[in-house]
Formats: sequence, C-alpha cells, structure tokens
Amino acid sequence: MKRIVVLGAGFAGLWSAIGAARKLEELRVSRDEVEVVVINKYPFHNIRVRNYEEHLEETIVPLSEVLNPIGVRWIEGDVSDIDLDGKAVVIETSTGRTSQSYDRLVFALGSKLVRPPIKGLGSYAFDVDTYQGAKRLEAHLAGLASSHAPGRYTALVIGAGLTGVEIAAELPARLRKLAGGDAADVKVILADRTPLIAQEMGEAQPVIEHAMAALEVELRPSFFLREIDEQGAILTSGERIFASTVIWCGGMRAHPMTELFSVIHDKQGRLPVDSFLRVKGVADVFAAGDAASLLIDGRHETMMSCQHGRPMGRFAGHNVVCDLLGLEMLPLQVDWYTTVLDLGPWGAVYTWGWDRQLAAEGMTAKRVKQRINCERIYPPRNGSKADIFEAARAEIDAPPKLANLGKSRRAQTDTAVESVD
Ligand SMILES: Cc1cc2nc3c(=O)[nH]c(=O)nc-3n(C[C@H](O)[C@H](O)[C@H](O)COP(=O)(O)OP(=O)(O)OC[C@H]3O[C@@H](n4cnc5c(N)ncnc54)[C@H](O)[C@@H]3O)c2cc1C
Repeated sequence: MKRIVVLGAGFAGLWSAIGAARKLEELRVSRDEVEVVVINKYPFHNIRVRNYEEHLEETIVPLSEVLNPIGVRWIEGDVSDIDLDGKAVVIETSTGRTSQSYDRLVFALGSKLVRPPIKGLGSYAFDVDTYQGAKRLEAHLAGLASSHAPGRYTALVIGAGLTGVEIAAELPARLRKLAGGDAADVKVILADRTPLIAQEMGEAQPVIEHAMAALEVELRPSFFLREIDEQGAILTSGERIFASTVIWCGGMRAHPMTELFSVIHDKQGRLPVDSFLRVKGVADVFAAGDAASLLIDGRHETMMSCQHGRPMGRFAGHNVVCDLLGLEMLPLQVDWYTTVLDLGPWGAVYTWGWDRQLAAEGMTAKRVKQRINCERIYPPRNGSKADIFEAARAEIDAPPKLANLGKSRRAQTDTAVESVD
C-alpha cells in the first residue's frame, strides 16, 4: 500500500487531503492501494480568519465531520520531526511518540505570529493568531469587570496589518458591551511603526482611516514599542500607555519546521514550490498555504492568505495523487487578487488587484465579507461525500473583470462575490 501524508489541517492541509481523496475516488483507486493520512495538532479545522471575532465556537469544524465521510484517516498529534531521506514523520501524541512513513508528503503546517524579542511581549501580550490565542483573549476580556487597573477598558492593538485592523475594528463594541455602565471608559488604540496606518492598503487606506474614526479607534502611526508589562506598553520615547489589553499583531512567518528543508526560503521562511506545488529540489514533497511560496500568476508571490491557501491545497491534493500514480499534473495559476477586510460594525472594504483598487465599502462590502467568512471558506458540513468532493475540485473560478462589474457598487459586489475564493 502507498501512503500520502498531509501535515496540517488548516485551509491548505484540509483541502489537500480532500483533494487527494477526491482524485483517488475519481480514478477508482481503493484505500487499500493508496491511503491518505492527515496529521494535525488538534482534532478540528480552525477557520483562522475568524479568530478576531466574538463567537469563537463558530470557527471550529471537527475533522471527523469532514474527513470520516470521505475515508481519510487523521491523527491528532504534534509533528516534531521529518526524516526526508527515510520518508517518515515523527509525531507526539497523547499516548506517546510515533512515526508515520510516506510515499508522498504534503507540508501544510501554516504560519505563526512573529514574536520579536521585545520585553514582556511573551508574557503580557495577547493575540488572535490561533483559536487558543483568541480563547485566551476572550477569557481575559471577560475578567476585566473585576479589575481595578488603570486602563482597564483600554485595548492597544500593535501592528496595523490586516489582522490588526480587523481586531481593532471589533473591539470598541465588544468592550462597550462588557463594560456596561462604564462604557465611557472604553478606548481602543491601533498602533504601528509605519508613518501611515494600513499603508499597504492602496485605495482602501483612507477608507480604513474613515472607518476607524467612526468607530472611535485612535490611530497611532510612528509608534515605537520598547516593552509591554502588566499595566500596558512603554514606548521608546518613554511614554507609557495604560492598557489592560495589549494585542500583538506583528505579522506572520512560515512554520519553523520549514527550516528542515535545504532550500532557499523566502523572507517569510516559506518553501519555494513550482506551479504543481512540488517543493523545488526536494523529491516527493509538496507544500501549500502559508508555508509555501508560489508565483501565483507568474509575477506575484502568493500571499499568506486563505484566498491562496485553499486553491493551493486543492491543487496539491490533486497533484500529489497524479505524481504518485504517474499521471499528468495540473499547474495552478490564478491571475486575480482581491482583499476583503472587515471593519467591524462600520462594514468592510473590498479591493481588486495587487495594487488594491477600491471596489466596494461599508455594508455592501460587509455582505461579501460575511459570505466569504461564514459560508464560502467552510467545507460542507452535511456529511455528504459527494458534496465534500465537489467542493475540492482542482479548479479556479473565473476572475471577475473590472470592466464588467456594472455601474453600482452593489452590482460590483454581487458579480465579485461569485468569483471570490
Ligand atoms: C485573525 C486573522 C485574520 C485573517 N484574515 C484573513 C482574511 O481575511 N483573508 C485571508 O485570505 N487570510 C486571512 N488570514 C490568513 C489566513 O488565516 C492564513 O493565511 C491561513 O490560515 C493559512 O492556511 P494554512 O493552512 O497554510 O495554515 P493554518 O490555517 O495556520 O493551518 C495550519 C495547521 O497546521 C497545524 N499545525 C501547526 N503546527 C503543527 C504541528 N507541529 N503538528 C501538527 N499540526 C500542526 C495547525 O494546528 C493548523 O491546523 C487571517 C489570519 C488571521 C490570524
């Protein structure tokens, strides 16, 4: 029997595994001939893009719900090593250390929040990078009512990338609800060392500033952090900000186990892959999602995003089966890119293209965001093998053309949402 092992069950890993199982089914290859095994730290798929939201229970999809109906075996365990020559992975499970051999490997362990060696960051800062991080923040916020600290209802979000903007936009309403009669004390600050908040956001940047003003989020560009302690943050200028809640959103870096590969990693530590998702220069290993870097349209590298992670997963799954069985593989190419950023109760902002041209904003864009976050990126949860396989086809939706987007923003959005992955 041959074995395909998929490491990770995030957007890339889950869809790789389903894509592989779908292709095997299409080829009528039985599981006695080729099995697909997923190894994931937790028994669930986390809709990580929603970890900034309030209702975290909705971000969890049990692996059993999706993988059992399609006959994919999964192991709950922590991958601690990979023997690339011996073709085996080492796994720490609740019952001890074990190993799993493979004929083909898909590396999809994702990314982790970058944590620079800033004093107090590890001990006092919160994050929304993982489900566990988001739960810890939730518990902390719930305990604020019994605190007497100065800055009890002040939240300082450091890092104004996409994640920082999304959590900062959520917090005013969330904190006011928790504060009740003390809602006047609520203060949310979004800080970044860049001279402009969200400066990478192209035409969406002024929209973000406008939304933050409406939400009463204070913006602190050119913010240079020295340390974090239990009372808040201290800047390099010596200024102290009293804030019971400091949330660190300082960017993502590929999983540290990418360092096991003797390849030229990119700036974010990612593995270089070719258009078939094979790790360049490493036999029998594919990679997808945040751990991999692909020139997605021949010019631009993939973003660490589920927008790219999901199709990378579907194609990696399809191709790993074809490679194993000596069949022709499918190259992945996507020549469009969008950004849909949640701006809390104000709405959202939606841009087209790598230069981020404004397509829609406010509640129109919010409907798109909700449809993506709450429906489109979920695997079917009805236990239907046919539906699960259908969702994992190695296909890309045709991109909407800007010229065809219609006159009203509503029309733009409706056209666009059909094509957004
Ligand atoms: C708050 C937030 C908001 C975001 N918003 C957006 C957005 O709006 N749009 C967008 O496109 N992207 C967004 N992203 C980015 C997106 O979530 C990631 O790009 C995406 O999750 C990457 O998918 P992945 O499968 O590569 O990695 P992950 O989703 O991180 O999955 C990796 C998996 O590997 C498992 N794992 C890790 N280490 C081990 C180990 N040693 N052993 C076993 N298992 C392990 C993890 O438990 C996880 O299941 C957001 C991210 C965050 C944190």
